[in-house]
Amino acid sequence: IGARHLRESPTSSPLQIFVRAKKKINDIYQEIEEYVAETTLFLEGVHNDKGLIGDKDFQDFKSYSSKVAGIKEVLARDHMKVAFFGRTSNGKSTVINAMMGDKILPSGIGHTTNCFLQIEGIDTNEPYLTTEGSSEKQNIKGIGQLAHALCNNRLGDSTLVRIHWPKTRCPLLMDDVVLVDSPGIDVSVSLDDWIDKHCLDADVFVLVANSESTLMNTEKNFFHKVSEKLSKPNIFILQNRWDMAASEPEFLNEVRKQHLERTIGFLVEELKVVQGAQAEQRVFFVSAKETLHQRLSEAKGQPNNSEQPAGYPEGFTSRYFEFQDFERKFEECISKTAVITKFEQHTQRGKNIANEIGQNVGNLMERAWQERDQKMGERQSLWARLDHTEKELHDVTTQMKEKICSIVEDVERRVSNALNE
Ligand code: GDP
Repeated sequence: IGARHLRESPTSSPLQIFVRAKKKINDIYQEIEEYVAETTLFLEGVHNDKGLIGDKDFQDFKSYSSKVAGIKEVLARDHMKVAFFGRTSNGKSTVINAMMGDKILPSGIGHTTNCFLQIEGIDTNEPYLTTEGSSEKQNIKGIGQLAHALCNNRLGDSTLVRIHWPKTRCPLLMDDVVLVDSPGIDVSVSLDDWIDKHCLDADVFVLVANSESTLMNTEKNFFHKVSEKLSKPNIFILQNRWDMAASEPEFLNEVRKQHLERTIGFLVEELKVVQGAQAEQRVFFVSAKETLHQRLSEAKGQPNNSEQPAGYPEGFTSRYFEFQDFERKFEECISKTAVITKFEQHTQRGKNIANEIGQNVGNLMERAWQERDQKMGERQSLWARLDHTEKELHDVTTQMKEKICSIVEDVERRVSNALNE
């Protein structure tokens, strides 16, 4: 329960790793955008007035701003995605509802999910749903109406229905997590299609298994296919309906040990997606139904003060604690993975763009310097030429002066001689 409290505290949630990284990279791109705009404006002046930069180079510069705008748009849409799989009725919808702390998805007999349901946060207060290929916003007044709308949705099991849910109603959505529920892997034939359409961008997969039976081949095969297409997918396995085991306490430890060995064997030896010790942090024995129930009563202001609240089978507190432990590990895993898969590329591209612009502006400066030096050189040679002319002029005039003087003197001399004679 303490962990639940922490989960709601925005600064301590591991999801904040992603949220803060997203804010940081957005701020950096904002700066890059301003830098590009400023540079383009400056270059426009240079392009128009001084002819230092050619048309093509200038157009190349201008294209940076659309590149940066494109990346900013993708960044704004980036989120962490978790996809839930398992056989029908293992409790996928109940797990999602428990994590959301609210009954959002219809669950139970007759409410089998027959398409992919994606829950994502919106900033407004009215939830709605949209279907593939249409932008029409369909109202969701309550869970009954949603169940009805989904029953009428005969789109096929690979199609996606998006449930837009107010962020203010769920901390997970507030922190940019998108949750995807899937049709049972036992009833679908389009598994390859599914993986291509819905799984390639998932950061974490949660297999909701039934602790009342062993892992089925259909469940294993699906994850074999996933790990063929994705290198080392992050897989968590929930052994759900663990409350049912409480009725046979004498076998509890034995059953748990057996499940744990088999599931760890599947992750470590068959799929090879994690190593020994880490695998133990990927398997949890939980009761989604109890967790959801407990959270709904907490939301109504009925805090759980006792070790074993009335109405739950023996061992409720440890199952509830294990669910919270799963949430914590899941949050750490998804936020770290999403930071790498979503932002590493953008960081590299941002660096490249900044470098390219820096390089191009550097080249332009170089060209400007060269031109200046050339002009300076021309001016210097002009000065030298002027100097030379001036000197020549000076020489000529002095020579002329001297010549005239000597002529005058000569004339004077001759005149005086003539007078004397
Ligand atoms: P889905 O088809 O995998 O989405 O399964 P649902 O979430 O619809 O669950 C099927 C039924 O199992 C519902 O009636 C749930 O109330 C019930 N259920 C789900 N989780 C648990 C659990 O942990 N314990 C018990 N006893 N019942 C559960």
